[in-house]
Amino acid sequence: MLSHILKSRYFLTACLVLLPGCVSDPDWHLPAFQNGPVCVYEGVAFSGDFESGRLTACEQTGTNQFSLYVRPEDTPINPSSWYAFSIDARSQADLSLTLTYIHGKHRYAPQISRDDGLTWAALPDAPEPGATSATISVDVRKGHTLIAAQPLFGLDHYRAWLRQAATRPGVAYQQIGVSEAGRDIEALTFGAEGAPVLVLMGRQHPPEITGALALEAFVGRLLESDPLAVRFRDGFRVAVAPVLNPDGVALGQWRHNTRGVDINRDWGPFTQAETRAARDWLASLGELAVAMDFHSTWKDTLYTQPDGADGSRPEFAGALSDRLVHSLGEGAPHRDASHNPDLATSKTWIHETYKIPALTYEVGDSTPGDETIRIARLAAEETMALLLGENE
Ligand SMILES: [Zn+2]
Repeated sequence: MLSHILKSRYFLTACLVLLPGCVSDPDWHLPAFQNGPVCVYEGVAFSGDFESGRLTACEQTGTNQFSLYVRPEDTPINPSSWYAFSIDARSQADLSLTLTYIHGKHRYAPQISRDDGLTWAALPDAPEPGATSATISVDVRKGHTLIAAQPLFGLDHYRAWLRQAATRPGVAYQQIGVSEAGRDIEALTFGAEGAPVLVLMGRQHPPEITGALALEAFVGRLLESDPLAVRFRDGFRVAVAPVLNPDGVALGQWRHNTRGVDINRDWGPFTQAETRAARDWLASLGELAVAMDFHSTWKDTLYTQPDGADGSRPEFAGALSDRLVHSLGEGAPHRDASHNPDLATSKTWIHETYKIPALTYEVGDSTPGDETIRIARLAAEETMALLLGENE
């Protein structure tokens, strides 16, 4: 009798909602639910068993209809409800999939890739953000399809990018530490030895892919060979750590590192390997000029210190924002100028410690990729010109 109750759908529903952790128990073999990250049905299989994958449990609710459950790494947590799974189908099928978030709300419009992650497209008729579940229709072809909250941008991508960049003259690769789970935290440096340093950081929050895309475009622009970029690299040094939370990226986490910490609230306490590695790396770089930390949120935003903040280059953030508005008009990132000493973010800590402008460069979740790249390249150009004093 007890086992009958335990295996009933009602118990597992309560388990899913109330007891994070119990759905990942591999001993569950239930007729309705299957534990993720791999769920196999007649003719179709779902899997979140790959880098950045996340699929907690599945349930078939009708012919070609499934509920897919997604749970964060721990709670409480910011509702950046990341999901990523593959569908392997024996033949073409029109599937109706209901994404159900345990402890979260729908945030990211689903993206689909039919070429194993090379190219992505938004699914049509994406549900609005904010609900606890979202139903999507997917026309799957025979074979392999990927569905994810954002195009996948994983550690393999960074590895290839960093290695390729480090083959260029004057670009140095460096491992700056290891994460709590032992993954490398990597960085690039380039530009004039001993010159003031422009610091660029990213992926403290794993799902924030549009910010990651902006960071890569920004760095790419700094590495070009036009006169502005050459002058900049002659006068400044650049230090880039594109993935400060590699465990979160690898494991498809919503927000935290493997110890359940939002590392962008650990700048000050420095309780985590990732933030200590970043702190020590910054201390090794010499004179810092400006720091930018790339993230994603609802809309394009530059979080900066207020005008006239203490320290060097107090005019930088306002001037950068003004120049982007001059070029982009209403398409420019919104500037939000404040200093919150109680928030242990990289922005606050770097500004207070080094007395330099420290910006959080936020890209909208739904800002298209080409727009994100165009704005990031322009921001890089304006940053170079401002730091060089070529303001006109
Ligand atoms: Zn963030």
